[in-house]
Order: sequence, then C-alpha cells, then structure tokens
Amino acid sequence: RAKDLGKDNYVIYSQSIMKCPNKSTFFDKDVRRALTNNEFRVDFQPRIDVKTNKMVSAEALIRWEHPERGLVLPGEFIPFAEESGLIVDIGDWVIRYVCEQIRHWQVQSIPVVPVSINISPKSFLKRNWSIGVMQILQDTGVSPNLLEFEITERIIMQNEKIVYDSIKDFKERGITFSLDDFGTGYASITYLKQFQFEYVKIDRSLIQNIHLDSQDAALTKAIIELAHGLRMKVVAEGIETVEQFQILQSFQCDEVQGYLYSKPLKTEQFESFMSKGIH
Ligand code: C2E
Ligand code: MG
Ligand code: MG
Ligand code: MG
Repeated sequence: RAKDLGKDNYVIYSQSIMKCPNKSTFFDKDVRRALTNNEFRVDFQPRIDVKTNKMVSAEALIRWEHPERGLVLPGEFIPFAEESGLIVDIGDWVIRYVCEQIRHWQVQSIPVVPVSINISPKSFLKRNWSIGVMQILQDTGVSPNLLEFEITERIIMQNEKIVYDSIKDFKERGITFSLDDFGTGYASITYLKQFQFEYVKIDRSLIQNIHLDSQDAALTKAIIELAHGLRMKVVAEGIETVEQFQILQSFQCDEVQGYLYSKPLKTEQFESFMSKGIH
C-alpha cells in the first residue's frame, strides 16, 4: 500500500492516477455526457420467494455502456460519483428510467413486479429531493407500491433529521425500504428497530460460505431470527448453489437473489423471465 511505502512513493502513486484518463475532473464530464447521451442502462435481477419459488420482485442495477471502454460495472464508477456528488443525478436518472420501464410494461400488459433501486445517502440529504421523486411517479403514473428503495446503514449512521424525515415521508406514501448489504459494516441493530425497514438484505460476503463455514451459518441464522423478531423480511444476496439455498430455507429466509436463479438481466431477457411462468 502507498502509505506503507512512504512519502516519495505516494507522489509517484498520485502521478499515475493523474495519467489515468477516467478519473477526477474528466470523469465528471464523462458522467454528465453519459447521462445526456443515454450511455447508462439498467439491468434487472430477479428476487425469488423461498416458499413459492416464484419471482416476487427485482433489483435495478445500473450499467454503463462506455463508448471507449465497453461495459463498465457500478463498482468502478459509483464510488467516484459518490465523491463528486453526481450520484444524485445518476440516482434520479435510474428512478425515472425504472418508472418509465414499469409504465411501459403496464401499457403492454406485461405482469410487473415491484422494483428495488439502490439510493445513495447523498440523495436523501438533498433538499426537496422527495418532491422530485414524487414528481417522477406522477409523470409516469407508477404506484409507489411498485418501488422499493435499498439503502445502506451508512445513510442512517449520519443520523440526520432530514434523512429520517425523508424516509418516514416516503414510507407513508407507500414506498418500501430495505437495508442493503447487512452484515458488512457496523452492526446497527438499534437502527433496525428505529427505522422499521420492510426488508433486510444479507450481503453476499456473509452468504457465500454458509455451506462451508458454520460460523457464517450461525451469524446468518441469528440475523434472520433477529429480523423476524422485529417483523422484517430477509433477503439473502448472491446465492449461487443449491446447498446455500437449502440452508437458507431451513433458516426460514424469506427471499433469495443470486446467480443460482438468475444474473442481472437486460430488459428483454427480464421480460421473457417474467413471462416464462417463473413469475
Ligand atoms: P448491491 O446493491 O448489493 O447489488 C448486488 C450486487 O451483487 C450486484 O452487483 C449483483 O450483480 C451482484 N450479484 C447478485 N447475485 C450474485 C451472485 O450470485 N454472485 C455474485 N458474484 N454476484 C452477485 P453490481 O450490479 O455490480 O452492483 C454492485 C453495487 O453497485 C450494488 O451492490 C450497489 O451497491 C451499487 N449499485 C448498482 N446499481 C446502482 C444504482 O443504480 N445506484 C446506486 N447508488 N448504486 C448502485
Ligand atoms: Mg442493492
Ligand atoms: Mg446488497
Ligand atoms: Mg452488496
């Protein structure tokens, strides 16, 4: 790591960052261009009810079809967009995109499922952001019941009144909330009680070894019981094997999402997934 190598090496490190074309100011321009040129798209990953084995909702996951670099995954650009604040514009773009897609399915009589969208803490901190969101819902005629917001505990750790009020307001209007990436950060058990999310999503890093590591299994089981005790449902993320599914089923996990059922799908593939009867 640069910090272990001392000051001189740090200088070399930062110079190499400056040479990299898709960082800093250039990157901001790049994102702005991507937003106006429609270089982003949204894929949908099905979420499956453990009891019925049917798709009950889907997560919207952004993708960037970069003109020079090809497909860019969110892990590569979301952290930078968070830093620059452009994540708020990206988030608004995703909400509108998803709502227009839902509207389109409804017009075509394609059976729709609720869609969850990952929302940055920065959006909640923006004044009057909720008014803009409700405007998108009104413009597209989409019911708030069809939207779920996935937020991470970073958001509630900020402990800002504006965030708390905004979540409460959205919930009253019918938008569902889930706590994403649970099990990766600081265990915010008291926040679970305070916010009354409908869902807790257990992160893939905890799920991936439950069939191999009895401690990970014990933690997962405890989280599921805790969430149920607080009247929340549990989604296990990133399940890839039948063994993982069976363990989660025995723990009474409510829903699963992962490559075992489906990778995130492009719109057309997702539509055929919906009409294949898995729905
Ligand atoms: P996340 O919200 O926890 O999303 C789940 C991630 O796990 C997705 O990665 C998904 O493709 C991946 N995944 C699902 N099942 C499996 C599996 O069985 N195996 C493996 N190896 N991976 C699986 P993705 O699409 O690359 O997104 C990464 C993260 O980027 C997301 O994590 C989310 O935090 C963020 N993100 C994605 N789209 C958006 C967006 O529209 N807005 C914001 N603010 N963040 C987004
Ligand atoms: Mg998510
Ligand atoms: Mg997650
Ligand atoms: Mg995650």
